[in-house]
Amino acid sequence: MLRSGIALVCSVMLFVVSLSAQNLSRTEKKFIKSIEANNAEAIGFLEQVVNINSGSLNVAGVKKVGDVFGTAFENIGMKTTWIPMPEEMNRAGHLFAETNGKKGKKLLLIGHLDTVFEEDSPFQTFTKINDSIAHAPGGNDMKGGNVIILYALKALQEQGLLNDAQIIVAFTGDEESTGKPLTVSRKDLIDAAKRSDIALGFETSTGFNYATVARRGASGWKVEVTGKRAHSSGIFSENTGAGAIFEMSRILHRFYTDVKGEDLLTFNPGTLMGGTFVEYDDATSKGTVFGKSNVVAQKSEVRGGLRFISEEQKEGAREKMREIVANNLPMTSATVTFTDSYPAMGPKASNLELLKQLNVVSTDLGQGAVLAYDPGKRGAADTSFVADYVACLDGLGTMGRGAHTPEETVNLNTIEALTKRTALLIYRLINQ
Ligand SMILES: [Zn+2]
Repeated sequence: MLRSGIALVCSVMLFVVSLSAQNLSRTEKKFIKSIEANNAEAIGFLEQVVNINSGSLNVAGVKKVGDVFGTAFENIGMKTTWIPMPEEMNRAGHLFAETNGKKGKKLLLIGHLDTVFEEDSPFQTFTKINDSIAHAPGGNDMKGGNVIILYALKALQEQGLLNDAQIIVAFTGDEESTGKPLTVSRKDLIDAAKRSDIALGFETSTGFNYATVARRGASGWKVEVTGKRAHSSGIFSENTGAGAIFEMSRILHRFYTDVKGEDLLTFNPGTLMGGTFVEYDDATSKGTVFGKSNVVAQKSEVRGGLRFISEEQKEGAREKMREIVANNLPMTSATVTFTDSYPAMGPKASNLELLKQLNVVSTDLGQGAVLAYDPGKRGAADTSFVADYVACLDGLGTMGRGAHTPEETVNLNTIEALTKRTALLIYRLINQ
């Protein structure tokens, strides 16, 4: 609902954009003209890459999309590198394209080649629904964002404006389903960030008037409880104690009453099992339980997720959970374990400063003011991995609806305006 509201506002805004005055230098007007001249080609390019399946597990397909983008970046004078992942990871790898120089801010532009639609998905092709909307698997998330990066750089290169700038384009091949371990699959992205000042992420845009300055991180947790297996008639006795299920209930209740409450901190128990024997298969997310009503439960397990806005908040929540888990009911014991997934991208001052600059760029283009998007409403993304090293802004990609569903669409009418905004932001940053 929110997205459709934004989409409506956007189409009205585009109309205003073409009428309103622009506050641009002569050089800026030149590359804006290049973007207009290349726009039909950009949309054709998007159609071409959407029609190559690149589900995260389709290693050959992801590489193929990488090759098409790679050639296009080579054609505008960038040096490209394909970084393969180890075979056992079953992920294609990443495409990096780079220009070298010493001028202004050093930029890292982040996209991803993969989509959630694997080869067996019925949703495989780019189809125009009308003049402005295409039904396209990964068209919005995020091949459209990749195309914005490419055509913004192309326009700058055509005007000779990339000389002596350091720009690294990083298109990962496994954003939708990250290769493990993350220390391997995200190493090159993090190394690139360490050589940069600013990272711009081109994940799906939430409208002309919003950009992402903060995202919550994600982590997994698991509580395992052991009780004493005994006849139910003995429960509560000194010998038998409370059993695994009462202990798990205590733990979850205390999580709810004592850990809940901080702004942007959420944790969700996703599955709960308890009985005499429990078995859970992480690969299929399915489990089985055996137990009887006249037997005190000896096992209980809960698996859950945790979302947080800072490492400090994550650690604070984990500490409280550990304390609660350690304080067991009679004749039971419990452990909690955590797994790291995405780090948080906090709303750092440098991110807000970058947002201010985008706001000026947008206003100068007659595209209106840009505000910070609610971090509670955005999922985790690759920008989060580099947030500790550089100033970050995300959500600069295309607009559309239904990402990750067979209804995914991309709004073709907004691509030109978003590419202009990207090129102008890049131009001003590399000339600072
Ligand atoms: Zn994405």
